[in-house]
Amino acid sequence: MTESVIIVGGGPVGATLALTLQHKGIAATMLEARAKGAAYQDQRALALSYGSRAILEELGVWAKLDAQATAINTIHISQRGSFGRSLLKAQDHDLPALGYVLSYGALTKALDDALANFKAVNVIYKAEATHIEPSAEVATVMFNHDSILQRLSSSLLVLADGGRSLGDIPGILRDTKMYGHDALVTKVKCELPHGNIAYERFTPMGPVALLPNGEEFSLVWTGKQAEVAEVMALDDAEFLSQLHQHFGDRVGRFLGVGKRLTFPLKLSYLNPVTAPHLVVIGNAAQTMHPVAGQGFNVGLRDAYELAQQIASIMPEAWGQDAMMRAYQQGRKTDTKRGLMFTDFLVNLFSNDIVGVSGLRGMSLGMLDLLKPVKSRLVRKMSFGSRG
Ligand SMILES: Cc1cc2nc3c(=O)[nH]c(=O)nc-3n(C[C@H](O)[C@H](O)[C@H](O)COP(=O)(O)OP(=O)(O)OC[C@H]3O[C@@H](n4cnc5c(N)ncnc54)[C@H](O)[C@@H]3O)c2cc1C
Repeated sequence: MTESVIIVGGGPVGATLALTLQHKGIAATMLEARAKGAAYQDQRALALSYGSRAILEELGVWAKLDAQATAINTIHISQRGSFGRSLLKAQDHDLPALGYVLSYGALTKALDDALANFKAVNVIYKAEATHIEPSAEVATVMFNHDSILQRLSSSLLVLADGGRSLGDIPGILRDTKMYGHDALVTKVKCELPHGNIAYERFTPMGPVALLPNGEEFSLVWTGKQAEVAEVMALDDAEFLSQLHQHFGDRVGRFLGVGKRLTFPLKLSYLNPVTAPHLVVIGNAAQTMHPVAGQGFNVGLRDAYELAQQIASIMPEAWGQDAMMRAYQQGRKTDTKRGLMFTDFLVNLFSNDIVGVSGLRGMSLGMLDLLKPVKSRLVRKMSFGSRG
């Protein structure tokens, strides 16, 4: 029997892994709990780095997404109550764009469509994994499909379920730090055109970001849970007025707001996985505060790098210690830097301690003067540890 990789979770990260394997002619089975198309209306705005675009281009899906993606040509970073500000511009770093904003639904659909064109990957929708059991020879997943409990085993099982569904699996230990903050996400209409500028503003309440998305902006407004709950409870007119007060005048008045959603912010990562034949990728492996737009991009690189590794060895070596160690070693630096960079920004910019505010304003002003520092920051945000 030909060996087939099992992927649990067909979100953007799992589907990217499946598609990369497909391009390499490697057989895989992907189990996705949702029905096909259930996520296509998901308006969640993902911030894609330039490096993530390159991966999607190589997989042939970017051509379908290009028209739906909004380029970020400039990132404007500022701090409430301070004159310090910094501008990162794509043209200063010889990049066509610093990144792109794309809806979760559009990306999921493009990946699903591409997967449907080939036969190497078998996608089973409405297949919910209920239990994963690693053992010395294989890893086994139990899943419900058509109300029947089924099982599949492989010498390589990849968990890409976003980290929300499966609890304790022997050999997987997770460290989680809850920030006690929530993110409120929605779309807003503004008086002034966005001009492909993304705004990141640090306030004592927490960072607030406006990402150009189509003709509008996607808003990420973070703060302590109680504070965000208060903002969430406002009617639209009051919400828009408070946002104006919070964000300032850079995009004029706020004219309209879409459906608002909140989610808790946390930093979560895995200790080195010791479960045999099991690899964890994407949000299931690490979850970051959205302040630096790193999380999703690190996850996409997990998928891409894992596929390269699988393709570089014989199926007999899949899931063996040497492969597991090589994968974890290869991803360590990128993941760690993403987590540290994000946590550093949250800690530096999300508090009111006297004196820290002046330091922040100063560092933003200095960042604007120091071209090499800015270049490193842009390369890091664009390409991860390869930058
Ligand atoms: C509410 C919310 C809002 C967010 N907003 C933003 C944002 O504005 N900007 C941003 O950059 N990032 C945002 N993020 C983070 C971003 O969504 C993730 O970085 C990205 O989705 C990670 O992709 P993934 O494929 O690893 O996980 P997911 O996108 O979570 O995909 C996991 C997939 O696995 C499937 N699955 C789960 N359990 C099982 C199971 N037991 N069996 C089979 N399949 C299963 C799910 O149905 C899903 O399709 C947000 C996250 C959340 C939760």
